[in-house]
Amino acid sequence: MKQVREKIEEFSKIGMDEEGAVSRIFGSKFMKEGQAEIMEYFHKCGLKTWMDSVGNIHGSLECGKENAGEILIGSHLDTVKQGGIFDGLLGIVAGAEAIKLLKEEEFHLTKDIHIIATNGEEGNELGGTFGSRAMMGLLPCGSDEYLEKAAAYGYSKEDLLHAQMDTSHAKCYLELHIEQGPTLYNHGEKIGIVTGIVGLRRYRVTVYGIGNHAGTTMMEDREDALVAASRIILMGDELARRTGHNFVETVGVLSVFPGSAPVIPSRVEMILEIRNEDEKLMDDFMEEYQKQARMMAKIKIEPVVQKSPVKCSEKLIDITEKLCRQKQISYRKMPSGATHDGNAMALKMPVGMIFVPSKKGISHSKEEWTDWDDIDCGMEILIEVIKFLESREE
Ligand SMILES: [Zn+2]
Repeated sequence: MKQVREKIEEFSKIGMDEEGAVSRIFGSKFMKEGQAEIMEYFHKCGLKTWMDSVGNIHGSLECGKENAGEILIGSHLDTVKQGGIFDGLLGIVAGAEAIKLLKEEEFHLTKDIHIIATNGEEGNELGGTFGSRAMMGLLPCGSDEYLEKAAAYGYSKEDLLHAQMDTSHAKCYLELHIEQGPTLYNHGEKIGIVTGIVGLRRYRVTVYGIGNHAGTTMMEDREDALVAASRIILMGDELARRTGHNFVETVGVLSVFPGSAPVIPSRVEMILEIRNEDEKLMDDFMEEYQKQARMMAKIKIEPVVQKSPVKCSEKLIDITEKLCRQKQISYRKMPSGATHDGNAMALKMPVGMIFVPSKKGISHSKEEWTDWDDIDCGMEILIEVIKFLESREE
């Protein structure tokens, strides 16, 4: 659809640098500019438009029935620092254009359609999926520390609480998003039907050794924390590969103490991150990891982040699959390795997510790309899913 391309090209200019990278970061002036533009856009699409108390932009098209159900569609307006043009923005534009089309076609609606451009989905000081967690009433409003941080962004406790939505009429939440991984691209498939969003856990792993003089302590007399940590990292990598089932494990942070060239490291702190759709697999992995790591060094493992996996709606998966078959569009059922607003939404309603291919699997980069033909395919399926849901009275 021409309009989707035009709008993505137009809105992605907000916060774009000369190199073509987009930084529409949570709380930035570009994000504020984006919010204003999206409000105007929703308004022009003929939607009842408003911004809630935490900066999510809403647009709704009412079906005219009293106490009608509501289909939510959304994605995030913020980006990472120097991200690409599609991440988040695609789902907003696709949703708005889909609603506009239904309106133009005078499609008989049985439910209201409500689109949301969320705020602060990407990692930020108030936590990723900030806007959607606020809407679902999941923010830690009892924490003074959190409230202080929120105040620095201009949000009072009332703002955080007030953003909570009434979800009693919500039938589902739909999101069209780029895959941000290489699976569809490598297999030449057009659509990813997301079965669930993987759970994520982070642990602080501290490895202890004995700090000593790097010149006078012979190799056989050392307890080098960094050497032990390195062996543990390799062990974890190996264990994750053996676990299979899309299990991923990463050590992305490593701090060496005292961090001085002539001193044998006495302590290493690292952040171990694991992600998978299956909590049991994560439990099993950690049990084995601890067992093996304990044999290799004196260690301490503390949980830092724990996000449970989310299951997408079986019903929405089935509907999407049938529509792909009908339209003869190639597809794959797959988990999402990245967190999305759907994580929060899924606690209150069925969630359906559709992926389109990311060229070479690249995202969160100015190199992020999805062919416009693939965007059209995703758009077509999104519209068909909405039409299917709107054509049922349930
Ligand atoms: Zn995203």
